[in-house]
Amino acid sequence: MSTYGFVKVPRDVEKAVPAANAPTPQRPELPNGPFETAVLAYATEQLPQKTLYHSLRVYLYCLAIMKDQFPNWDLDTGVLFTTCLLHDIGTTDANMKATKMSFEFYGGLIARQWVMEESKDQDYAEAVSEAVIRHQDLGTTGYITSLGLLLQIGTILDNVGKHTHLIHDDTLDYVNRKYSRDGWCQCFAHAIDKENAEKPWGHTSALGPDDFRNDVLANSVRYLHSALDS
Ligand code: ZN
Repeated sequence: MSTYGFVKVPRDVEKAVPAANAPTPQRPELPNGPFETAVLAYATEQLPQKTLYHSLRVYLYCLAIMKDQFPNWDLDTGVLFTTCLLHDIGTTDANMKATKMSFEFYGGLIARQWVMEESKDQDYAEAVSEAVIRHQDLGTTGYITSLGLLLQIGTILDNVGKHTHLIHDDTLDYVNRKYSRDGWCQCFAHAIDKENAEKPWGHTSALGPDDFRNDVLANSVRYLHSALDS
């Protein structure tokens, strides 16, 4: 089950990584197995390019962070890839119109159904779905799957600029050159506002309807080495 991330780890990143290893410069790459190729094709068809590139950056960060900070985990990188690529599927215009549910909950249902149909593997489908549903369930109490924790770290790193101590500057530069940000924080801040306007009861509001958007817009991390590029 640990290949799917069904391992209890603290939700609090400080407790999950009490003493971070010195991160190493890495050049993480996308997987190219048949299942991952199908996931990439589906995500490319469904997601706007900015969201697709964010999802690809998140995967590459997670891969590098797992290698540096969780070297003993045997979480499957294909499961990680599928999870990262589908984590924001609930934010597309079509899926926003299709539901009154919180985007990450509805996205978790879509991801579960898609992975189930494609893989016929319930553990795989539920691992992805659970992590997608909880990817904005940030906090310092209780537990989460290892897959869910990694997705939380990767998304918050790309959106708010937290947890940069877990990844090497060169890795950040490499990933952000490969899949450029192109105004990502403004785009995501808009998605937060849209979610809170259309579904004010939703889970995104738990992060503070204005606080979370403001944190995203205040992200001052330099993801590229050259200030001219960032
Ligand atoms: Zn995201």
